[in-house]
Amino acid sequence: QRPVGVALLGATGSIGTSALRVLERQQERFVPVAMTANGNLAALAEQVARFSPAYVGLVQDCPEAPGGWGRGPSCLVEAATHPDAQVVINAVVGAAGLPATLAALRHGKRVALANKETLVVAGDIVTRMAREHGGELVPVDSEHSAILQCLAGRQPHEVKRLILTASGGPFRTWPAERIAGATRADALKHPTWQMGSKITIDSATLANKALEVIEAHHLFGVPYDRIDVVVHPQSIIHSFVEFVDGSVLAQMGVPSMELPILYALTWPERVPDSGVPPFDPVALGGLTFEHVRHDAFPMLGLGIAAGRAGGAAPAVFNAANEVAVAQFLEGALHFSGIAERVDAALQELGRLPGDSLEALLAADAAARQHVQSRIARES
Ligand code: NDP
Ligand code: MG
Repeated sequence: QRPVGVALLGATGSIGTSALRVLERQQERFVPVAMTANGNLAALAEQVARFSPAYVGLVQDCPEAPGGWGRGPSCLVEAATHPDAQVVINAVVGAAGLPATLAALRHGKRVALANKETLVVAGDIVTRMAREHGGELVPVDSEHSAILQCLAGRQPHEVKRLILTASGGPFRTWPAERIAGATRADALKHPTWQMGSKITIDSATLANKALEVIEAHHLFGVPYDRIDVVVHPQSIIHSFVEFVDGSVLAQMGVPSMELPILYALTWPERVPDSGVPPFDPVALGGLTFEHVRHDAFPMLGLGIAAGRAGGAAPAVFNAANEVAVAQFLEGALHFSGIAERVDAALQELGRLPGDSLEALLAADAAARQHVQSRIARES
């Protein structure tokens, strides 16, 4: 049997390179047929030499890029709809990944979705697209992969509650005043996961968990009042599902994104794989759980409120956060400024309509502009 063709969007990133390790081990089952990056020409060229995909795309303009490569943002959609690709791994960061997710689902493909922003910006439209065109949306995010594994075919009426675990990030135990002045280096030191810089900052503010609550709502059709978050510093339990009879299932393992990436490719099947570290319960030591300190991490409550409000609010939350995080990484904003900017954008734009893709993209653009213009005024 021929291996399944995979399009890998964001091949040069943290998830992208983990995915390539999985594909390399599983080369009898899967083969990369399309790969894209944003601007990292050197890293992409090296991957292309190793994997020889039929299609290569680079979003940014690079005069040195080989002539046969796709160029510009449309290369993401070209890769996602490539005729040889049955599965699309969307490992792009940010709302930039949305058009490719929609295009792949419109073509009836499976999307192994790491790009959670896709569902935060346009969850209703994305899930409808999957339903109407026979596409499959399978999460790569470890919490959602855990929930999918715990659900294992159970019906919605059997589920009482989803409980997402959060590592708590590098500032879990810091007093609020100290968090307010955290530096870029402090925020980039994640205790349990090695990830790209944007999601690492999102994990420090807990915005990531807000994005994940919204993602879970759309993936599993569970209302917000039945999705909870608990801090679990060891990141061994990746999430829980509580069922109506009171039984609770958890999925666990040593933190590695390679397992949820592989599962998203093979779901609902499991296949043998040697990439995941061996599980030794005794070596793990204790597993502990804590309440979220909402006062110290306002981004979690802001994001969940935006999810509950619906309309364009989640898109505004996401876009404002993307810009504020970029500003923080550039040294143009204090850590506590991220939540302030996002809160201000939500107050101004959170009630914009979100009933069409155009409306959502307009809200996304307005929120970016809102946060950007404040920096321009203050500097
Ligand atoms: P990285 O920053 O490490 O990688 C991002 C990838 O996307 C790179 O290949 C980058 O290309 C490309 N890219 C960046 N911006 C654009 C753009 N505007 N258009 C097209 N491509 C772009 O991110 P991660 O791998 O950490 O995260 C990717 C996604 O997966 C995010 O949505 C994140 O939330 C999610 N995720 C990540 C986890 C992790 O462990 N890292 C865990 C769970 C979810 P280039 O290298 O050229 O810049
Ligand atoms: Mg996650």
